[in-house]
Amino acid sequence: MTIRSRAAVAGSKGSFTIDNIQVSPPKGDEVLVKIKAAALCHTDLDILNGNDFPHVMGHEGAGIIADIGPNVTDFKTGDPVVLNWAMHCGACLACADKRIHLCENYSVANGDGVSGHAHSEGTTYKGKPIRRSFYLGALSEYTIVRQSAVCKLHDKIPYSSASILSCGVMTGFGSAVNAAKVKPGSSVAVLGCGGVGINVVQGCRIAGATRIIAIDITQKRLDQAKEFGATHGILSDPKDTTLASARDSIFALTHRGADYAFECTSIPTMADAPLRFIRHGGMAVQVSGIEQPVNFDCSLFEWDKIYINPLYGQCNPKRDFAIMQDLYHTGELKLDEQITKTYRLDELQHGFADMLSGKLAKGVVLFD
Ligand SMILES: [Zn+2]
Ligand SMILES: [Zn+2]
Repeated sequence: MTIRSRAAVAGSKGSFTIDNIQVSPPKGDEVLVKIKAAALCHTDLDILNGNDFPHVMGHEGAGIIADIGPNVTDFKTGDPVVLNWAMHCGACLACADKRIHLCENYSVANGDGVSGHAHSEGTTYKGKPIRRSFYLGALSEYTIVRQSAVCKLHDKIPYSSASILSCGVMTGFGSAVNAAKVKPGSSVAVLGCGGVGINVVQGCRIAGATRIIAIDITQKRLDQAKEFGATHGILSDPKDTTLASARDSIFALTHRGADYAFECTSIPTMADAPLRFIRHGGMAVQVSGIEQPVNFDCSLFEWDKIYINPLYGQCNPKRDFAIMQDLYHTGELKLDEQITKTYRLDELQHGFADMLSGKLAKGVVLFD
């Protein structure tokens, strides 16, 4: 039976409405998820403002399996699950190479996936098929997704805390642990301590980094970074565009430059910053997904520096969502502390306004 679902529907550029969509029963390997919590992310607004097509918004969420398709093997109705956007086919070269976040068939790395389109014909709005952000469309009472887009939730993790694992936590934690493979005893610099940056910080702490230097232009964010594991905070002057002063402080603390540096600002002119912070042979990680053309001084790569731009913290959902839940239960991965405010779906505009004002580390929409 087709279900009516209240959802955030993006219309023309920059505008959205809360309206009813129609969701069909799951087919094949699809599952129907009743969303309990969906987290807000800057990417939601980037997609909203950068595109003109209607779509169901949201790509971070957790909920309960409400129905399963005939080919679903891993889930049953009633299972609590968290969404992920590393859905994958299991058969392509990337999947065979265990880089399933780059799946040649389903990854957002290919085509217009970040904008999202429905794999399923099962979601319609005003009688026409409608795309879903990141193939998920989490800002909706119900969503229909492939079974590889969900992972089981264990024990007593609140849905609100689980929902933030979906994207920001995975990206930050995975960039440190999976992509950079931060070694115990190492020194790291984390530039930008917003929603993703603090998860890089705690990923580095969990990986055993002993010197974690946070750099930001607001003291409040530096204080927050310390709660998540930063050992040092450097307050940067926004006028210091080359971050010369921060670089000097990092070199004073580490003597030769940091072993790893992470860029988490989304500011294009900051794309080369992590190269400035690291030692010879160190690793620079661009976490924020800068896509604009940037002029690079190639001498910044001297010598033997590595610069990587990982997608989604190189997410392997089954492995990583299990590990992150275990770390939550042992108290090492802080999730509850990241959620600064919750909203009802009809308060979404308010939630985005709070996010833009910098008031929030993370806002979450709760469903009944
Ligand atoms: Zn694949
Ligand atoms: Zn996100």
